[in-house]
Amino acid sequence: MTEHITLIAKLATVDTHLDELRDELGDLPITVKGLEERVKECSLLVEATQQKLDEIDHLRGTAHVTTQELHDKEQKLAKQQFKVKNNREFDAITKEIQHIKTEVAELEDNLRTSHVKEENLRATLEIETSVLSEAREKLDDKEKELEELSGDQNDELKKYIKLRLKIIAELDDTLEAEYERIRTFHKEAAVGIRRNSCSGCFSAVPSQKIMEMKYNREKLYACENCGRILYTEEIQNSVDELLDA
Ligand SMILES: [Zn+2]
Repeated sequence: MTEHITLIAKLATVDTHLDELRDELGDLPITVKGLEERVKECSLLVEATQQKLDEIDHLRGTAHVTTQELHDKEQKLAKQQFKVKNNREFDAITKEIQHIKTEVAELEDNLRTSHVKEENLRATLEIETSVLSEAREKLDDKEKELEELSGDQNDELKKYIKLRLKIIAELDDTLEAEYERIRTFHKEAAVGIRRNSCSGCFSAVPSQKIMEMKYNREKLYACENCGRILYTEEIQNSVDELLDA
């Protein structure tokens, strides 16, 4: 029959491993999700910039025809203006011609500035594309990491869960309940004494108490400051050996 305190120490050690495994995996899926969002975001930026560049291409490709059309329209209107019967019609056509002139001026202006715009957009696109590929690379890495970890983890998880069940089967139910009760406050419900201190809250443990613990291994001792169950360094060492085996 294994001593209670050794079982508790084993249980705490196994739980620490299990917590660590779950923590490791716990962050990674969130990281992967965040990176997926980032990749999506960057892709949208690249698309938007590319679209603006396409628009410039389109503007240049059609500018000649559009200018010609506007010019023809203007000439037609100018001819019409000679045949008007009253001032009202004359003014209406003048307005229309003015409108066309403005359109032509805008088009020319756009064409003129399109080179600078294009240059800026190309520079932006370059940055956005490199940020996107960085994000993709990071995502790939983290996805792989998650995949590998899940694989390795499964084996380790299985091992520790099996070990935990074995310990629980041996452990007194009241003690198990007490352990679980403490665990609702402190993740590590039982901790070793290190350098004469509780390794949970680092408050000093009186040497008198440590001596007692060494000789009375049937009684459970708790840290007076944090309430965690305490065990001696010797027990910690024997637990480590058992778990490594
Ligand atoms: Zn403590």
